[in-house]
Amino acid sequence: MTFVAHVECTECGHRHDPRLPLTVCARCGAMLAVRYDLERVAARVTKDALRQRPPGMYRFRELTPLDDGEEPVTLGEGSTPLLSLSRLAGHLGLGVLLAKDEGQNPTGTFKARGLGMAITRQRTLGARGFMIPSAGNAGGAAAVYGARAGLPVAVVVPRGTPQAAVAEALLGGAHVFTVEGSIATAGKVVSQVAPRIGWFDLSTLKEPYRLEGKKTIGLELAEQLGWRMPDLLLYPTGGGTGLVGIPKAYEELRAMGWLAGALPRFFAVQADGCAPVVKAFREGAETTTAWENPTTHAAGLRVPSPFAGRQMLRVLRETRGGAVAVGEKEIQDAQRLLARLEGVWTAPEAAALVAALVRMKEARQATRDAEILIVLTGAGLKGDPPPLPPPVDLAGSDEEILARVRRALQHPSPL
Ligand SMILES: *Cc1c(COP(=O)(O)O)cnc(C)c1O
Repeated sequence: MTFVAHVECTECGHRHDPRLPLTVCARCGAMLAVRYDLERVAARVTKDALRQRPPGMYRFRELTPLDDGEEPVTLGEGSTPLLSLSRLAGHLGLGVLLAKDEGQNPTGTFKARGLGMAITRQRTLGARGFMIPSAGNAGGAAAVYGARAGLPVAVVVPRGTPQAAVAEALLGGAHVFTVEGSIATAGKVVSQVAPRIGWFDLSTLKEPYRLEGKKTIGLELAEQLGWRMPDLLLYPTGGGTGLVGIPKAYEELRAMGWLAGALPRFFAVQADGCAPVVKAFREGAETTTAWENPTTHAAGLRVPSPFAGRQMLRVLRETRGGAVAVGEKEIQDAQRLLARLEGVWTAPEAAALVAALVRMKEARQATRDAEILIVLTGAGLKGDPPPLPPPVDLAGSDEEILARVRRALQHPSPL
């Protein structure tokens, strides 16, 4: 039995039939969201019953849009660890600092959740192939879930997209196309071509199910924290699926009576070279405007005109959160710091959160008494590594090698 009540427009409230392959609101063109009969969900599941279920994002089956008996296209995504970063917290002068390590998902990023869910649903609803504009990781995830589903995928990425994601898409059997420009250019190509070739357009938040996959991060966080919410939650923001999805999870659990109290204060973190959400937040604008010449090596943050700008800004304001932009060097420094202190080599996008914490501490936006959670969206292996010292080459006599090793070890870390 499915617990979906209907699919609703987030702007005009128009209701859509979830049995159709939906994209955006048929009436006003805005983002759609799945609404559940939460009373029925609460009557059906208990926290104890949930605890007995196997890991993975489908353990929250009643809060997913899957039909009765619908088999998910899965690689075992979800149930990622919640890590305590006490050494980093001490270094930064903060109190409790927690990280949801989404780099441990299949594909090495949280994109696995969204694309797994979207491809599961859209295959059931009749899609014959998928086309997706991407900064890299979404394309890679679409390719591998397409391979699992036995359906063809075409990925359009900007030139210069990190090699790991392009390789992942190609290895998954996808057709990969590059364009000059950013994901915005790729998005235009997809919106032109996909309807002509009859393949489903999987652009960020232009269909309602990817959000339901990303939402499971919030469901897991609630359970992992013992059915509480943190005080502050930082999210590296491109298209904003998690920034919209995590509060959606919290709201649903609150409506079920499983969570109480205020939502965390949500902070969007972007790069100085592409910060449309930060700019709109500071200006008090209702939605974002296109960012000219977006540049950052954190590819997932290079989204100049996010489709869900309005929804993201609403989350930031309604939770009394904020928005922070950080520089390229700060991101690289943060990537090295997190890896050295905690052993977590995270993606540049996620490292931006650590850089933002440094700033927020200085500005007293982040304080020692707050419980802070950061969503580490991807593994470091998916991006280019920061500049690093070369390894010390060992050659020569045994004595020369020993001397060289001794000299090197005089420094606690070569970083
Ligand atoms: C896509 C991506 C982001 C941005 O996520 P959005 O949901 O588009 O805001 C952040 N980090 C990584 C590693 C990504 O792949």
